[in-house]
Amino acid sequence: MMEQYLALKREAEGSLLFYRMGDFFELFFDDAKIAAEILDIALTSRGEHDGAPVAMCGVPVHSADGYLARLIRAGQRVAIAEQVETPEEAKARAKREGKPASKALVARRIVRFVTAGTLTEEALLNPRSANRLVALAEVRGSIGMASCDISTGAVVLEDCDPDMLGSELARLGATEIVVPEGWAHGPENATPHDQGAFSSNFGEDRLASLHGVATLDGFGTFSRAMLAAAGGLVGYLDHVGRGTLPLLLPPVIRPANAGMVMDEATRASLEIVESQQGGRKGSLLAALDRCSTGAGSRLLAEDLSAPLLDREMIDERLALVRFWHSRPIERARLREVLRGLPDIGRALGRVVAGRGSPRDLGQIRDGLAEAASLRDWLEREDDRPRLLDDLLPAMAGHGELTDHLTRALIASPPTERSGGGFIAEGYDPTLDELRETSGNARRAIAALEARYREETGIASLKIKHNGVLGYFIEVPSRHGDTLMAPDSGFTHRQTMKGAVRFNSLVLHEEASRIAEAGGRAIAAEEAHFETLVGMVTACSDTIARCASALARIDVAASNAERAAEGEWCEPVIHEETGLEIESGRHPVVEAALAKAGERFVANDCNLSQSDRLWLIGGPNMGGKSTFLRQNALIVLMAQAGCYVPASSAKIGLVDRLFSRVGASDNLARGRSTFMVEMVETAAILCQASARSFVILDEVGRGTSTYDGLALAWAVVEAVHSEIGCRCLFATHYHELARLAESCENLSLHHVRAREWKGDLVLLHELGDGPADRSYGLAVAKLAGVPAPVVKRARHVLEKLESARSETGGLAAGLGELPLFAAAGSAEPEPSPEHALAERIRDLDLDALSPRDALDLLYDIRRSI
Ligand code: ADP
Repeated sequence: MMEQYLALKREAEGSLLFYRMGDFFELFFDDAKIAAEILDIALTSRGEHDGAPVAMCGVPVHSADGYLARLIRAGQRVAIAEQVETPEEAKARAKREGKPASKALVARRIVRFVTAGTLTEEALLNPRSANRLVALAEVRGSIGMASCDISTGAVVLEDCDPDMLGSELARLGATEIVVPEGWAHGPENATPHDQGAFSSNFGEDRLASLHGVATLDGFGTFSRAMLAAAGGLVGYLDHVGRGTLPLLLPPVIRPANAGMVMDEATRASLEIVESQQGGRKGSLLAALDRCSTGAGSRLLAEDLSAPLLDREMIDERLALVRFWHSRPIERARLREVLRGLPDIGRALGRVVAGRGSPRDLGQIRDGLAEAASLRDWLEREDDRPRLLDDLLPAMAGHGELTDHLTRALIASPPTERSGGGFIAEGYDPTLDELRETSGNARRAIAALEARYREETGIASLKIKHNGVLGYFIEVPSRHGDTLMAPDSGFTHRQTMKGAVRFNSLVLHEEASRIAEAGGRAIAAEEAHFETLVGMVTACSDTIARCASALARIDVAASNAERAAEGEWCEPVIHEETGLEIESGRHPVVEAALAKAGERFVANDCNLSQSDRLWLIGGPNMGGKSTFLRQNALIVLMAQAGCYVPASSAKIGLVDRLFSRVGASDNLARGRSTFMVEMVETAAILCQASARSFVILDEVGRGTSTYDGLALAWAVVEAVHSEIGCRCLFATHYHELARLAESCENLSLHHVRAREWKGDLVLLHELGDGPADRSYGLAVAKLAGVPAPVVKRARHVLEKLESARSETGGLAAGLGELPLFAAAGSAEPEPSPEHALAERIRDLDLDALSPRDALDLLYDIRRSI
């Protein structure tokens, strides 16, 4: 056994090995230690290997899913080694091979690998988020990405600019990333896989054979890099499923530059699908999601992660939201229908992957039937938007399949298929007969019990059934002797503590009838199941299309519902570079305040080509960050095709959205916070275009006052004059206000506050012009800093301020600062290093004697 185990373990390539032994999966050696630690289960030992006890732990097969989920979440991969023959078969094989039966070892094989990106099990997946596997490949310097949601089978291929890899992966939010073994450019936590699979020829061939086509032309024009990535994806899935592929729908191309670009830092700071604490709670997604189905929630998360850049497509989505927004009664009815809808996309995924259950087939049947009647209804509605008309055909056309499944399956089929009982009566006359036979035998056994009671006069006699003995007759011990009598017709089987168990010829005969008919019935059901799976698989493309049509409708209705709850408006998207938002709100902060019974103060934002950079000052806690973010979120939501929390919004398409938060707000680990801030700011300065929208919150704060102010100053100038994009910049440096003198498309704003009877009142209202003062001490008081400390601080402040008025203060030198330094219009003063370099460059080295050179060196050293 150890030999077999170790061979399988080698094959498992570093994954934990789940080794099937009867009703348990056992783990050994280090695997056992790792798993016991993660799962918090007992670590024992069994036998010896190389003189040391073998560590072991195990999990019951019937509850293995839950344990698997925890191991995967902890970052492990698991190889499942199943028994592929019965002990009887193993014994027979041993005999054939001339070995003693006692040496017979059940053959085992790794039947699949369980990895984070390749799960399909209902129990292991979050119904409201996608589970995405991404494969990357490089062909002559360009990168291809193939992504796939294994649970629904959607496959998307795209090209990726190597510089944008981080942003693009952040958009996809992959659970697992696969790269060619030895490739240096993949993310750290990527799974390496055999290089051979990442070739465009392999990818092309595999996709073509998978979809039964001679050429892929019908699906689109794919780049070599896309095909190589697809090859890696399919190759990896092949490996993981050991030859059984999950559902893979025909590949769809996502054109390059198809969407708004957001890098990882922007996504994190805007808390789009996950809050900074981690988890969905507190995210934009959570504040928006009123979807009635899991598939809808997954699509909404995808929409928000990948806002569009194509005005027509955005308008189409908005028209569908408007359709539901203007029909509250129909919307309520729709949502009611959707709520009862099973997740057919995921059920289909399991069925195609060979892990489907009768319940999955039942769900597909019910879902498709619902979809068809929904379509019949929607087709009768007037003024349907185009997107809806495009979706409706996908929702019908499965009549034959649903009819068949309805005839074949009982109303609510079980999740277990091995027990049978899911094929409906009347579907297969032979099956009905078998069932009748075993039904009759069961009734005969019940009658037998009554007869035996009467014959023996033992009222407590019972006929029971268990897995070991099958059917047997049981009487309490004190009656045991009656049945023991040699001529009683009963044969003794077992003596228990308070009871004795017997068999009888008649019982044995009836029991055999049940067993035989039952066995044949189960085999018949099994065969029907396989046929039904085949029928469903044959329609997988169209079933998947139906599922995504339903999800799209759900997302639109959800957004209409949310908009109606909060008096949101439909944004107007245009191609200019303005941004006019009236009475905008932050959906997450507003909802949190509402819960506490407080009101959110709406604010306008009005950026145009001639006034495109707003510098926003005002006290801490005054609402600067909230204002910045709400405008970024409104842009993002609008381009995702959603209504937005404002009374009106006119949005010029944004190609790239950047959000940066000053270092001290964002305590990143490892790197110095200021370094992180600068790296992120550098990315904006390199990547933003005139069509971008940038929000910068307290940038420069992570370092000393002078450095910070200087950097903030230079960054504002560069954004204003070099990039020329729309930008909101929040800062507490008053000195920056002087930029308004030199930057003509920049204007000053502040969040308003009042001091009233010594207390600070934050109005959260945006006003024009610079902030009058900082209110830092008032904020400190508000935050509960003890009164003596605040008093002392006020004293220190007065001293500092009087010193400042004497020297001219922090901004004293700024008066002489050449304007537009960033634009390079002024020569900088040469630095000492520069002067030195000049001096060395001007030397005529060939004319220099060794002695002169030495003198020169001495001279230079004196000067530094
Ligand atoms: P700042 O960036 O100026 O320090 P924040 O934007 O972080 O301030 O806001 C601080 C708190 O003020 C928020 O957590 C929120 O509770 C409240 N707040 C912000 N903006 C508003 C608003 N427009 N209306 C009501 N409360 C607000």
